[in-house]
Amino acid sequence: MKAVVIREHGGPEVLRVEEVERPKPAAGEVLVRVRAVALNHLDLWVRRGIPGAPFHLPMTTGADVAGDIAELGAGIDDISVGTPVMVLPGVSCGVCKRCLAGQDHLCSQYGILGETRPGGQAEYLAVPRENVVPKPERLSYEEAAALSLTFLKAWHMLVGRAELREGETVLVQAAGSGVGSAGIQIAKYFGATVITTAGSAEKLDAAKDLGADYTINYREENVAKRVREITQKRGVDVVFEHIGGETFENSLKCLAWAGRLVTCGATTGIQANVNLRHLFFKSQSILGSTMGTKAEYHELVRLYDEGHFKAVIDRVLPLHEVKRAHEVLENRQAFGKVVLIP
Ligand code: ZN
Repeated sequence: MKAVVIREHGGPEVLRVEEVERPKPAAGEVLVRVRAVALNHLDLWVRRGIPGAPFHLPMTTGADVAGDIAELGAGIDDISVGTPVMVLPGVSCGVCKRCLAGQDHLCSQYGILGETRPGGQAEYLAVPRENVVPKPERLSYEEAAALSLTFLKAWHMLVGRAELREGETVLVQAAGSGVGSAGIQIAKYFGATVITTAGSAEKLDAAKDLGADYTINYREENVAKRVREITQKRGVDVVFEHIGGETFENSLKCLAWAGRLVTCGATTGIQANVNLRHLFFKSQSILGSTMGTKAEYHELVRLYDEGHFKAVIDRVLPLHEVKRAHEVLENRQAFGKVVLIP
């Protein structure tokens, strides 16, 4: 089968589409014929490498997969070959205390497809049975692939961690990113007022289409100042952060008394300044968040089936254009997901 294989870290030039052996599903696993696979920043990190955090190479990336069941491993008889499925990107041991408590995303054995085991930028992918959920008919394969990881992350941030309540105000940083566009929709689903940021007029218009109530062009306006104006100096109840670096300090400035900042990433830098006096005096919280639980994934698939959320797809490319897909993501040219078709 064809698969994207990374054999060494580097720029997009290290991405190769190779002919490799088709995986066999182990006992308890299913083999999925991949129909669509969406890119994430994770793909860029695995390709570039992170100093001090080596990835196991060679690796086939791709965490967000939709496809059809092609083969069943030993012991699997509750799903049939040919069933269209969405693939849950996180894999855990299933037997430890955290897994049994429904916190499988905090399992010490937790891994993401395309990071710790082969991902879906290939024609076939073998995954544990519990990692596939029947795909709602109303979603295309491209939409299903585009919805998995970003919505799971955004849901866990807003629902699992920040405990967003109806009537609250949320600042969603970077509407143009996959996780940002998911955050806007989930916050609106819960009846929040949404303020969001982006770096171009087109991205701000697209964010409004997703339901954002207020938009701020961060290249032209001071975000914290605009947020204070919009909220009549109160600040927002929740900041949805995934940018890190210099943005983080400004995100804190946007927070109301007793506000919660929830973060799942640091695409522009892992160091940030925190004004501790403001933090304790205003009783604010900084919450870390990573991925989401299997149960949350099932809940999301039910909501997709009911048509509450829209996949935001920037473009769909054939698998052999994986280098271009990385460049589009890396240069922030995309509004929403870049999807590959193997
Ligand atoms: Zn576990």
